[in-house]
Amino acid sequence: MRYKTKDIGEGGIDLRVAVTAAWLAAECPDVSLGLTKVGMCLEGRLESAGEGYLLRGTLRGELLVPCARCLEPAPVAVDSPVAVTFVEASGDEGADAEETQDDVVSFEHGTIDLGRPIRDEILLTVPMGPVCRPDCAGICPICGCNRNVTPCDCDKWAAETAKLGALAKIKLQ
Ligand SMILES: [Zn+2]
Ligand SMILES: [Zn+2]
Repeated sequence: MRYKTKDIGEGGIDLRVAVTAAWLAAECPDVSLGLTKVGMCLEGRLESAGEGYLLRGTLRGELLVPCARCLEPAPVAVDSPVAVTFVEASGDEGADAEETQDDVVSFEHGTIDLGRPIRDEILLTVPMGPVCRPDCAGICPICGCNRNVTPCDCDKWAAETAKLGALAKIKLQ
């Protein structure tokens, strides 16, 4: 995912960068993400623009994100436009000095690393509370089974127990 600015030249270059499961595991360790057979890649162009370099492209593919209800992997389609400007860090100011905007990333030593914008885009794409299917029954809070796979009667028993408890209270009064 690294490109030397001297290779970009005047006309810019076409990019096709594949995102691998190993890369996801290394770059997004806080989220358990996987890939489906569809895979994921960034396609676009990197070209010089003014003081820096402009990346424009689309991140497309499919991620596997743990279902918020049953924790099984849930596929999430990704189709996000990416537009990032890379600006060379000017020595003593430090690498972060220029990064006042979200879509501006600094680089050093004539090497542009697409890893960070790709990671940021992926983390933005991951929905809050994804579900593997709209009617996912989730994990039973009582016995802990995945109710999509092994339906249990816990709800029924819990309801019965509550009813019996209510009855007992009435009788006691
Ligand atoms: Zn689920
Ligand atoms: Zn149960």
